[in-house]
Amino acid sequence: MPFALAEQSCVHRTSAESHAIMTANETARAVFGAPPCRNDSAEGGIVPPSSAAERVERDAIVDLASSLIAIPSPSGDELAIMDFVAGWCAAHGIQCERVARDPARPNLVLTIGEPDSGPIVAMNGHLDTVPVSDLAAWRTDPFDPAISDDGTRLYGRGASDMKSSVAVMLSLMALLKDAPLRGQLQTHVVVDEETSGKYGTIFVLDEIAAGRLPRPDYVLIGEKSDLKVRNAERGLVGLAVTCYGRAAHTAAARVTGINAIAKAAKAVLALEEDLDKFHPAVGKPVISINQIQAGIAHNVVPGECTFTIDRRLIPGETAESAAAEIEARLRQVAAEDPEFRYEIVLDPHGDAIPANLTPDDSPLVRALQASVRDVTGTEPEYFVAWAGATDGRFYRLAGIDTVGYGPGGENAHGANEAVFIDDLVTQAKVWATTIARLLAAE
Ligand SMILES: [Zn+2]
Repeated sequence: MPFALAEQSCVHRTSAESHAIMTANETARAVFGAPPCRNDSAEGGIVPPSSAAERVERDAIVDLASSLIAIPSPSGDELAIMDFVAGWCAAHGIQCERVARDPARPNLVLTIGEPDSGPIVAMNGHLDTVPVSDLAAWRTDPFDPAISDDGTRLYGRGASDMKSSVAVMLSLMALLKDAPLRGQLQTHVVVDEETSGKYGTIFVLDEIAAGRLPRPDYVLIGEKSDLKVRNAERGLVGLAVTCYGRAAHTAAARVTGINAIAKAAKAVLALEEDLDKFHPAVGKPVISINQIQAGIAHNVVPGECTFTIDRRLIPGETAESAAAEIEARLRQVAAEDPEFRYEIVLDPHGDAIPANLTPDDSPLVRALQASVRDVTGTEPEYFVAWAGATDGRFYRLAGIDTVGYGPGGENAHGANEAVFIDDLVTQAKVWATTIARLLAAE
């Protein structure tokens, strides 16, 4: 059989044929299938037959994902799984560099292709997970990967967030390592996504900024996105609002006391609302009052009450514009209550992040959207969901075009976490076709 495939792959194409991009298979064939009429690859097998998308193997992805799930890797304890991936690279002849702020928490940068011959496309995925906190609620052992009876789901800690997607990336590296690429394909396998990113993607980007690693032109993020295109992410800013009253003995509450908790309650009710704005790539902004602090004793009217606001920003909004809206709301409250006094502190924890967007006309977004059409036969949709941030934001903030496209799944961070296996296959085909478009060898 392999020889039959090899023969097939040796049909030389005219350049007109190779540019007629109509389907996923044809696109990938035009790039990777450029007849590798040799059978002398490193492993002595047959070099890429027809196309990358066609050669995506469901079982290989599930096997690799299962191997990753079987190695526990909560944030801070990622060494064993990174050693496994480094060993896997060695076995597959894939260049693998350790990039570490702390040698016990290494990131791996995998590279194939031809340097200085075209753009660099990097895939990014994290292998740290949240810990298992509710073992009794799991139907299977979280570190003993299991497939559902109907074959649709792979269960285990990290199955959805996001070891299976990293398995897709590794499979594509193995699939394309002998393909003629104009440029390079990398995978940034990182630690520390679930906590700060400081040891993970942020450190990789620091090394890129320092010139110690090549700077990718395009980045693909494999976090769960239900097979929808995620070219933007909400930003966030925190605000602390302190309402002032006048402390007093409870007995004098209606005489000299002004209850700061009651004042804050008015402010909270004025602010907790559905925000009537929308960005097509990311959806609505969010406001949520998540902490409140007041009172020194059960028999003292509180003189101060502080609450914190978590405000998620959409493209077009800034920390300042969101603060101005909040202040306008509080002024309305003050207009109706002469005793309402308050103070706002913007970004009290210094962790504000702007909304970040890779525009629709980026070659990366276009290539991904076209590949979704090719592979699925459907129009690509934006990932407009109530989702948190990914490491994609760090690449965007560094000025690198970045788009997310990952599988669907369920119960990430919870019991019975699972990924949808069919989605992994679709993701692999869409990414293979996207990479083909960006790293065409002709
Ligand atoms: Zn994740």
